[in-house]
Amino acid sequence: MERVGFIGLGNMGRGMASNLRRKQFPLTVYDLNPAPVAALGELGAESADSVEALARHSNIVVTMLPGPKEVSATAEQLLCKMAPGSILMDSSTVDPETTDALAKAAAARGVGFVDAPVGRLAAHAARGESLFMVGASDADFARVKPLLEAMGTTVHHCGGPGTGTRTKLVNNYLAIILCQLNAEALSLSAAFGLDLEKTLDVIHGTTATNGQLKINWPDKVLKGDTAPGFAIDLAHKDLSLIVQAANAARVPLPVAAAAREAFSTARAQGFGKNDFSAILDAQCKLAGVPAPRLK
Ligand code: NAD
Repeated sequence: MERVGFIGLGNMGRGMASNLRRKQFPLTVYDLNPAPVAALGELGAESADSVEALARHSNIVVTMLPGPKEVSATAEQLLCKMAPGSILMDSSTVDPETTDALAKAAAARGVGFVDAPVGRLAAHAARGESLFMVGASDADFARVKPLLEAMGTTVHHCGGPGTGTRTKLVNNYLAIILCQLNAEALSLSAAFGLDLEKTLDVIHGTTATNGQLKINWPDKVLKGDTAPGFAIDLAHKDLSLIVQAANAARVPLPVAAAAREAFSTARAQGFGKNDFSAILDAQCKLAGVPAPRLK
């Protein structure tokens, strides 16, 4: 069995790493925050006191960090110590430029590189039900597949290195702007004084419905749970990556740019650490209407 190193035990990484341990992978973990490291220790994971020490103990290193800055800095430390023939697998959501640079730096050291960003939410990661979109050579994909199957239920091999990250940005563009659209629609419904349950019944019976409104929101903001599975700060980061990557590809995305600024406003209002479904509360505050909740 591959010896796995895992860096970044936040809302997503903690669940993912726990599922690797439950499936008996030898695991070494590292995070700046000692609390999730201790929790993984209780499941039998070793803890490393530095990124370099983790690199020396592992054949496959997984990174699940907030964004490009943290991933690039950590990969630089890792790649100095990872043995040729080992694999660096980044599951964080980053921009294509960062992913391409990591793939190149890894190849220069004889290390394989896989981008395997994650679909679905923290609750799915905790249950081992994540979806992965993977950019990898066929040989590297075959090596990381058992890890991905330990952490998730759905694994898509999208193509060579870089295709996972690009697919993730396309997916998150839709997933996040749907939240902004839902927030606007439900604030209008609240301003009209409509009954929330009745409005949702109507929407779910037409093509207006969507996965955020139907699947995620009833378990999060609409029942008053705004604790971050996926934080508004991270959704804002993703929209920024999407606008930047689309600009680089000369693809105009006017709705993405507008949604990014709506998320900027939510952060300025103090909602950054809340779940991204709480964009509803930020929008209702702007509109001066009560935030709708299911009874
Ligand atoms: P998070 O903020 O909850 O966790 C990040 C973890 O990384 C924290 O434990 C933090 O202490 C640690 N960390 C930060 N910098 C570090 C460093 N330099 N060295 C070691 N540890 C460091 O974030 P998250 O919600 O788990 O998301 C992680 C990534 O996954 C992000 O790129 C996010 O966009 C993506 N993602 C999140 C979700 C979700 O639902 N939360 C879903 C899919 C993808």
